[in-house]
Amino acid sequence: MTVHFPFEHTYAALPANFFARVSPTPVTAPRLIKLNRPLAVHLGLDPDRLSSPEGTEILAGKRIPEGADPIAMAYAGHQFGHFVPQLGDGRAILLGEVIDADGVRRDIQLKGSGPTPFSRRGDGRAALGPVLREYIVSEAMAVLGIPTTRSLAAVMTGESVLRETPLPGAVLTRVASSHIRVGTFQYFAARGDTDGVRRLADHVIGRHYPHLANAERPYHALLEGVIARQADLVARWLLVGFIHGVMNTDNTSISGETIDYGPCAFMDHYDPAMVFSSIDEMGRYAYANQPRIALWNLTRFAECLLPLLADEQGKAIEQAQAALGDFAESFNASYQAGLREKLGLFTARDGDQALAQDLLDAMAKNHADFTLTFRRLSDAALAPADDSEVRQLFADPTAYDEWAVRWRQRISEEPQDPAARQTAMRSVNPGFIPRNHRIEAVIDAAVNRDDFAPFEELLTVLSKPYEDQPALAAYAEPPEPHQRVLQTFCGT
Ligand code: AMP
Ligand code: MG
Repeated sequence: MTVHFPFEHTYAALPANFFARVSPTPVTAPRLIKLNRPLAVHLGLDPDRLSSPEGTEILAGKRIPEGADPIAMAYAGHQFGHFVPQLGDGRAILLGEVIDADGVRRDIQLKGSGPTPFSRRGDGRAALGPVLREYIVSEAMAVLGIPTTRSLAAVMTGESVLRETPLPGAVLTRVASSHIRVGTFQYFAARGDTDGVRRLADHVIGRHYPHLANAERPYHALLEGVIARQADLVARWLLVGFIHGVMNTDNTSISGETIDYGPCAFMDHYDPAMVFSSIDEMGRYAYANQPRIALWNLTRFAECLLPLLADEQGKAIEQAQAALGDFAESFNASYQAGLREKLGLFTARDGDQALAQDLLDAMAKNHADFTLTFRRLSDAALAPADDSEVRQLFADPTAYDEWAVRWRQRISEEPQDPAARQTAMRSVNPGFIPRNHRIEAVIDAAVNRDDFAPFEELLTVLSKPYEDQPALAAYAEPPEPHQRVLQTFCGT
């Protein structure tokens, strides 16, 4: 039975310097680890066929499906602030695009499928651990309602990849509304190829911002649109305690999806300075720096668009600055609205921002668990006796008590009944997030014992983050001191 992909290729139809045509490198013994069946159905693909031996070979890059036009995309990027004029898909190959059940065009890309002309010194491969981490975290983000690339499948290649030690190799099938990055624009801008920038901008408008096509100044509107989506995205990250880890411009999606899960992590106890990535020695991409870095990346994007904004450079810069000036307001609107929801506030009032900030400050000072504090606060909204569950998360529980007096006063001024407030809070404050020590345990079992049961169980827990799941309640717990993961590593 043949696997049918109804592929289209709008990106591959762009000029030849936008990509390199390259096929995945065949691997010896593909083995399907996980197929995301609901996502397959959403994409119009048959999950039974995809999980057949033939489907598994396709997902491993051993067989090229009919209708595919495999390419590696060209891009540049600022990595930790340093510009690299040529990066590109060094270990990812785009098979093509499909239209999903919502009518949205989606890229289907194999990550870890062998070298490309952009591989530089890399082997084009991915290790099993980072593939499982990306699968887990990207799917968890999707359930939390955060724009993200998705994971369609994880396969083992039957080959080992050499990192510090030999590790089992794997391929992730990634699905994105596109893989176009700030770095893709930089690739053409750095070459002085204004026509390339314009072609790319037109493609992006048609694909991600079609409502802007008839705007008076479409490229200006595009800049504003990308800024607004990034501002909202980063606000959402902060509201769940997510740290991307490598916010380079080549890892900043133009569509506003979270992309390139490497050394990312969710924080346990709240610490705005938290960094997990082993390569982020300066804390450039620390939790609380993420809005600032997003703006920095968007400024690089704006620079690429300058020649399209106005004929006169001074005028173009003025326009770009005006658009970038909206970032803070856009971010704050999303972030403050999200915080109000997390606190169970149905209305916006003066003083709410200070109320939220004072809780966060107390959490930071008292090492309170980010996720559990808000989750338990949701129940305390119904039953003040449950305050005991929240206060014990604080090193000094009286820090919570003092704050809770103000919070109760504030919520008492709204007409909604406590049950409605609890329900609303529970729907925005997850009980379960992909905690790092759980991900590490999953990877350890898979890599060292060929045991994928923990992976499946974690996926099950994370598929219902807002439910209590009493049988799996241990997954809500922060790590014991000896379980704490202090560093995560890049997937390379
Ligand atoms: P990232 O970790 O996403 O910031 O990757 C930076 C660049 O390195 C991208 O161009 C990747 O395609 C490339 N890259 C990462 N790992 C590998 C690898 N194992 N082989 C080839 N290229 C890689
Ligand atoms: Mg990347």
